[in-house]
Amino acid sequence: LIQLYMPLNMLGFAYREIRNALVNMEKMFGLLRVQAEIADKPGAPPLAVSGGEIVFDHVDFHYEKARPILHDVSFRVAPGETVAIVGSSGAGKSTISRILFRFYDVASGHVRIDGQDIRDVQQASLRAAIGVVPQDTVLFNDTIYYNIAYGRPGASREEVEEAARLARIHDFIMALPQGYDSPVGERGLKLSGGEKQRVAIARTILKNPRILLFDEATSALDTRTEQEIQRSLEEVSRGRTTVIIAHRLSTIINADEIVVLDRGRVAERGRHAELLAGNGLYSDMWRRQQEAAAEAERHVEEPPSF
Ligand code: ADP
Ligand code: MG
Repeated sequence: LIQLYMPLNMLGFAYREIRNALVNMEKMFGLLRVQAEIADKPGAPPLAVSGGEIVFDHVDFHYEKARPILHDVSFRVAPGETVAIVGSSGAGKSTISRILFRFYDVASGHVRIDGQDIRDVQQASLRAAIGVVPQDTVLFNDTIYYNIAYGRPGASREEVEEAARLARIHDFIMALPQGYDSPVGERGLKLSGGEKQRVAIARTILKNPRILLFDEATSALDTRTEQEIQRSLEEVSRGRTTVIIAHRLSTIINADEIVVLDRGRVAERGRHAELLAGNGLYSDMWRRQQEAAAEAERHVEEPPSF
């Protein structure tokens, strides 16, 4: 009986791990539908990453033929620089991140990393080159150690702890009764939104990718936590090619370029100050968000009236 039970048990374990990982990936990109399988070209070489330059070159995209989503989208992120993609909800921002990760192929145009069309290289190598911090990190039902170490299988204990230190979550972990062995996730310790994002940042530091993708990485956090996490994200992104997708504009004012998407088209582009001076979509969004923030501030300051 034991002989039969053991392999089955291990199979069950492997199955849970795989399912867990898939659920994580789907949630990470806000996708609930099962992805159509995108296969590597026969004999495709791995992506050869040097500086990590990203080019979207006249990209058109649709999920369903009847409904175009991206229209002639072009932008370039120079090696080590930061480009922010902003725009209202539904504009197509996350779609750009899914295309970069090659969950989908473009309908026309090209996406290139360091000069290579991402359709011509091994997907595993593409995904290994990109570190993603999503809006809402889903943790595995495992220890906090496992959740960080997942960023790079084979990493040493020292490397895991160093990543946690850089992400400023090490001290928090050490203060837990079970330290790094504390179970987290739905069946373990419930971490706050900010703590979960720090785990995601530690995981990404460990992965050490050339390219970073933050998709609304701080938008689910309160303003104070957002500012703290923001600092950590800025530290991680130093020297790496970074795409920041953001709804809150206060988080991207230092970007080397800001691309404003409007219903799948690039409506404006430039640096923060240039876009503000342009009095277009961006400056409208900025003004609205500043007013909303000031309004929220007033509500905090006013004493309750009886
Ligand atoms: P954003 O991130 O800017 O809020 P998305 O890129 O997620 O926007 O979505 C852009 C548009 O594509 C939206 O209209 C959305 O409904 C649609 N969309 C997103 N994912 C899918 C999908 N898997 N199938 C069909 N339509 C989708
Ligand atoms: Mg989105």
